Amino acid sequence: MAPPDIRIFNTMQQTKVPLVPLNPGKLGIYVCGPTVYSWVHIGNARTFTSFDTIVRYLRFRGFEVRYVRNYTDVDDKIIKAANEAKEDPIALAAHFIREFEADTKALHLLPPDVSPKVSDTIPEIVAIIEKLIARGAAYAAGGDVYFEVRKYPGYLKLSKKNLDDLVSGAGERELVLDSKKDPMDFALWKAAKPGEPSWDSPWGKGRPGWHIECSAMSAKYLGETFDLHGGGLDLIFPHHENEIAQSEAASGKTLCNCWMHGGFLDLEGAKMSKSLGNVVRLRDALQQVDAEALRFFFLTTHYRQALSFSDKQLADAETRMEYFYETLRKVDERVEGKDFGQGALHGDPERFLRELDEAMADDFNFPGALGALSGLFNELNQLTDKPPVKDKAMVGRTLLALRDIAKKASLALGLFEDKPSDWLLRRRDRQVARLGIDVAKVDAGIAARQEARVAKNFQEADRIRAELKAMRVEIMDTPAGTSWKVLSELPTT
Ligand code: AMP
Ligand code: ZN
Repeated sequence: MAPPDIRIFNTMQQTKVPLVPLNPGKLGIYVCGPTVYSWVHIGNARTFTSFDTIVRYLRFRGFEVRYVRNYTDVDDKIIKAANEAKEDPIALAAHFIREFEADTKALHLLPPDVSPKVSDTIPEIVAIIEKLIARGAAYAAGGDVYFEVRKYPGYLKLSKKNLDDLVSGAGERELVLDSKKDPMDFALWKAAKPGEPSWDSPWGKGRPGWHIECSAMSAKYLGETFDLHGGGLDLIFPHHENEIAQSEAASGKTLCNCWMHGGFLDLEGAKMSKSLGNVVRLRDALQQVDAEALRFFFLTTHYRQALSFSDKQLADAETRMEYFYETLRKVDERVEGKDFGQGALHGDPERFLRELDEAMADDFNFPGALGALSGLFNELNQLTDKPPVKDKAMVGRTLLALRDIAKKASLALGLFEDKPSDWLLRRRDRQVARLGIDVAKVDAGIAARQEARVAKNFQEADRIRAELKAMRVEIMDTPAGTSWKVLSELPTT
């Protein structure tokens, strides 16, 4: 059966549109990256995880994806933070780029194919501004250069805002003209001020405005028209609107075929944001929970919907991941290295992959894909614990087929990248730390129980088992010996 056609909600058209690559089999995607003046928080991480999952799925579907995500390393907020810390702004940004890379690696995000920086793109930025001036879309004024919004007829076509409404709704500060012709004209180039990083340009020393960087970098690495452009909802206006105006006025071509915007991660009803200060740093979250559990939590909601963060949701996500990994461990134990021969399978294992594919093809319906995973793991458990058929070889073959599908699903979604036993041990370590379990006491209990069993004192062995259970420790006797796990803090349903 042919795989389902992919349809994506395009913010420009406000509807789902078929994905038609500019070049067959290839896709270029540009995602606006972080402004590196502080630590990446889990709100940023949600957006980057959404696009990471989207890229993984598109690759899983066979597309050759070129994924570009920039670093904004020249910006008002960076300069302000550097001045406060009495540091060089570019050095401060370089520091937070390194920390961002460490944190997103810990979250298992794929490194983009290109991660350009503003400070490395100045010649291209200057060239595009020169082109805009030559085309009459921008003007220089006292060392600054502005984009003239009223000269570009398509302005606000993404956000569907109205220019006159914007002007009448603007605050006093936004209405100050300085050297602008219109209060809504925005800066492409800002004349150098003391203490700010600056570069030579035809308009004197200065630095780029915020939006022009993405126009220059996307054109440099993906061409003047490309397939997909992503970011969080907050970027629609003014950032993406201004990117469109700059790029399209300069090239005369459509900037990109599909605009994708991710919903916010909220904390207690407000958008998690560096400026509000209500942030949970990614690094701190990853001290508390496993990276895949955090990814699982993000995927429980459609990428365009708001998602509320709570410690309980995160703990629930890790418990759910424990159920998945425990299932994989159990199944591996049953089937690994065994040959069940050729022959019929029980049921239709491929069905779960089709369900996952259909959900993801429909505007990347993450919760739908997780629903397909639940079905798959339910089937794995059923077949392992209570097989509905007597034919052991058939059960074995079906388990192998389902295990293979779980591997494919892990490629498409970026989950289950770990060895089950490793993941489960790390989970146990975190629980031990969280609940303050005395591991030496557990080991001693297990040894004493073993002695009691050898001496056939089963009453004593049971008493020790119960004593450990009171410490939330469950003992499991396996062919490889006695192991233990911490009883889940939450139900796994
Ligand atoms: P910034 O570093 O603030 O430029 O943000 C980097 C990316 O994170 C952008 O795509 C933002 O839209 C996104 N972002 C910022 N805050 C949140 C949030 N609370 N939830 C989801 N995405 C966010
Ligand atoms: Zn951008």
